[in-house]
Amino acid sequence: MTPISSLCVYCGSSRGVNPAFIPLARALGQEMAQRKIRLVYGGGRVGLMGACADGVMNNGGQVIGVIPQHLQDREIGHSGITELKVVDNMHTRKRMMFDLSDAFCVLPGGLGTLEELFEVVTWRQLGMHDKPIIVLNAEGYWDKLVGMIDSIIDDGFAQPSARQYFSVVGSIGRLFDLLAAPAETQEPDYPERI
Ligand code: AMP
Repeated sequence: MTPISSLCVYCGSSRGVNPAFIPLARALGQEMAQRKIRLVYGGGRVGLMGACADGVMNNGGQVIGVIPQHLQDREIGHSGITELKVVDNMHTRKRMMFDLSDAFCVLPGGLGTLEELFEVVTWRQLGMHDKPIIVLNAEGYWDKLVGMIDSIIDDGFAQPSARQYFSVVGSIGRLFDLLAAPAETQEPDYPERI
């Protein structure tokens, strides 16, 4: 049994060009609903974000979205989710998403997704939390990011232990395997592709 009750998903507010990513986001949502894991996300209806939320809602699950007032138009606040929290600013949004979540998953996305990933990874590096962070490396989308982090370590700007702060998995099944494992037995997967 997966010992978490809520999972924060960071992903693109765009659809991207790879047609596999929207069904992937929907499938993740469906699997979360079946496992009774609540989705915490940025609250939008657009792109992979909306697809993941729809995947949960269409399968009887629970979704909490957190969106700043000023993004209500751009990311189109999702009115069909369990609860949409409208907050004052980005900092409040990200902090609330963090507090409501037991773990974090990253799907393909853009600069906002990267920013969200690095915030929780660097908070972990600073010892501010110990929540699992798992990058779903769909079709090798995040390979270059993993390579960049390797070269940062090789160049001496991060410790090799930086690899321990997040895992990279190649499938939704593997994501839930990792989340189900007791923390002390969790070996980070690094890297892996679908
Ligand atoms: P993107 O990956 O650029 O499509 O953005 C995905 C989500 O990240 C969107 O909901 C953005 O609002 C959010 N996001 C979080 N932090 C930032 C930031 N500093 N700049 C832009 N977007 C951000």
